[in-house]
Amino acid sequence: MTQEIKKLPKRSEVDEKLTWDLTKVFADDTVFEQELKNLNAQINEFAQAKGSLSKDAHQFKKVLNQYLDLMRRFEKAYVYASMKNDQDTADTKYQGYQELVSAQATKFEEATSWFEPELMALPEEVLNQYYESEPELNETKHFIDGLLLMKAHTLDAQKEEMLASASEIFQTSENVFEILNNADLKFPIVEDEEGKQIQLSHGTYATLIQSTDRKVRKEAFEKLYETYDQFKHTFATTLLSHVKGHNFNAKIRNFDSARQASLYANHIPESVYDTLLKQVHKHLPLLHRYVALRKKLLHVEELHMYDIYTPITGKAHLTYTYEEAKKEALEALSVLGKDYTKHVQEAFDERWIDVVENQGKRSGAYSSGTYDTAPYMLLNWQDNLENLYTLVHEMGHSMHSWYTTHNQPYQYGDYSIFLAEIASTTNENLLTDYLLKKYPQKEIQQYILNHYLDGVKGTIFRQAQFAEFEQWIHQQNQAGNPLTAKEISEYYQKLNEKYYGPDVISDPQIALEWARIPHFYYNFYVYQYATGFACASALSQAILSGDATKVDGYLDYLKAGSSDYPLEVMKKTGVDMTQDKYLEDAFDVFEKRLDQLEKSFEK
Ligand SMILES: [Zn+2]
Repeated sequence: MTQEIKKLPKRSEVDEKLTWDLTKVFADDTVFEQELKNLNAQINEFAQAKGSLSKDAHQFKKVLNQYLDLMRRFEKAYVYASMKNDQDTADTKYQGYQELVSAQATKFEEATSWFEPELMALPEEVLNQYYESEPELNETKHFIDGLLLMKAHTLDAQKEEMLASASEIFQTSENVFEILNNADLKFPIVEDEEGKQIQLSHGTYATLIQSTDRKVRKEAFEKLYETYDQFKHTFATTLLSHVKGHNFNAKIRNFDSARQASLYANHIPESVYDTLLKQVHKHLPLLHRYVALRKKLLHVEELHMYDIYTPITGKAHLTYTYEEAKKEALEALSVLGKDYTKHVQEAFDERWIDVVENQGKRSGAYSSGTYDTAPYMLLNWQDNLENLYTLVHEMGHSMHSWYTTHNQPYQYGDYSIFLAEIASTTNENLLTDYLLKKYPQKEIQQYILNHYLDGVKGTIFRQAQFAEFEQWIHQQNQAGNPLTAKEISEYYQKLNEKYYGPDVISDPQIALEWARIPHFYYNFYVYQYATGFACASALSQAILSGDATKVDGYLDYLKAGSSDYPLEVMKKTGVDMTQDKYLEDAFDVFEKRLDQLEKSFEK
C-alpha cells in the first residue's frame, strides 16, 4: 500500500541491458573530467574576445562559432553529470560532478554575458554587411534574429549588469515557497483504507485522494487544506512577491504586461493564450457533463472536490512487462511510418533507456540528452498501463530530439517547451486510439475512455484554469489592486465553480488550492500544457486519417527543431495555433468519447 517499503536493487545490481549506456557520451569519467578542464580554459579564453564583434565579419563569425561550440560542449558535460547523478542520487562522486558543472555554468554565464548585448548593439547595416561578406553566417541568421528580438526590450549594459547581479534576489519568493512547501510544512497523520496510519505528504496525498474509500480521500483532502489554511498569508505573500517580480521586469523592459513579456520570448502572440481560454470557456459544458457522469457512477448524493480523482471505471485489466510494452509501443506508433519505428527500435536496442528502479534513483520519468548525445530516457518501470503511456510519452520527446538533432545544425538542434509537449502527447493520443481499437471488451473500453477523458480534464481544462488564474493575479497586481489570501481565495473559489460546474459542491477548502501549486512560480508556463495537448489531439486525428501528407507534415515538425519560431514550425503540420480550429477539433474528440462512455454505462 501507500507506505510499504520495497526492496530495491542497488545500482550495481541492475542488469546492464536495462540501464542507459552513457559511455557513448564520455567513454569514462576521466574523459569527462578532462573535457571539463578543457572547457574551463576555453571559457577563460572566450572572455578575451569581448569588444571584438564590431571588428569585421571574419572576427564576428569566429567568435560566434566559439560561442556556439562552448555552449554545445558545455551542454554535453552538463547532461552527463546530471544523468549520472540521477541514476543514483546518493552516489557522492556524481553529486560532486553535478556541483562541478553547476559551478561551471555560473562561470560560463559570466564569461559569456557580454556576448548577447554586444551583438545587439551592432547596427543593422553592419550585420547585413557581415551576412554579405561571410555567407556562411546566414546559417545562423534565425538564431541571431532570435537574440535581436529582445533588442527593443534590453536596457543599457550597466543596467543589465545590475539586474543580472540581482537575479538571485528575484528568486527569493520562489525559494521561500519551495522551502515552506517541501520542508517546513508538516502535515498530520491520516488513515488509509485498512485503518493504517499514514503520514500525509505531497506524495501520499496524490495516492489517498484517488482512494476508492470515500472516508479516506475526504480526510486527506480536509487535513491537507487545514495545513495550508494555517499558512495562507505566507503563501499569499510569496506568490504576490513573485508576481510583482514579473510585473516589474515587464515594466522596465517596456512590455505591456508580464504575460506579453513571457510569450514574446518564444515569439508567441498573446492571441494564442486568449484563444485557448475562449475555447475552453465555450466547452466548459462538456466538463460539466463529465462531472455529472462521475457523480452518477459514484452513486453519491453530493459530489465533492475530493471525489474528482477517484477512479470511476474499476481497475485496468491490462498489465505489461517492459518487454511486452516495447512491442505494444512499436505497434501503436507504427502509424508514424517505418522510419519513425526504426528509431524507436534503436532506442530499445542501443540502450537509450534507463528502465528499472534502483536505490537512490531519481523518481519519475523524463527524456534528456543534448545535441551530441542520444536522446536518453529515464523511467522507473512498473508493469501497468500507466507506464506504457509514460513510455510512449517520453519516446515522443526522444524521437523529437532525434529528428531535430539529425536534421538541424547545432544552433537549431533543440526546441522550445511550447513545442515539446506536442510530440509526447501526440504519442499518448495514438496509443489511446490503438488500445480502443485493439480491446473491444466493455470494461477495458471504459477504462481507456475514462483515462483519456481524465487526461483532457487534467491537461486542457485544469491547466487552462491555472492559466486563467495566473493571468488574473498578474493583472490585479498591475492594476494596483490588493491581493491578500482573502482576495486570492475568493477569486479561486469562483473560478473553480465556473470550471467544474453546478454538479460539484463548492467545498471551501478548494479556495486554497492556489497555495500549493508550484507552477504558479513559473512564468506563464502552464498554458502550454493545454495548447500542447489540444494540438496533439488534433494532430493524432490527422495522422490517423490515413492521409500520408499528414504524417509527412508531422515528421517535418519533428525535424524542424528551432529553425523557425514555434508557431511557424507547427504550420508545417497544417495546424495554426492562433486560430480556434485545433481546439474545436480536440473538443470534438472529447465530446465523442464522452458520448461513448456515457452510452456504455446506459446499457
Ligand atoms: Zn513531457
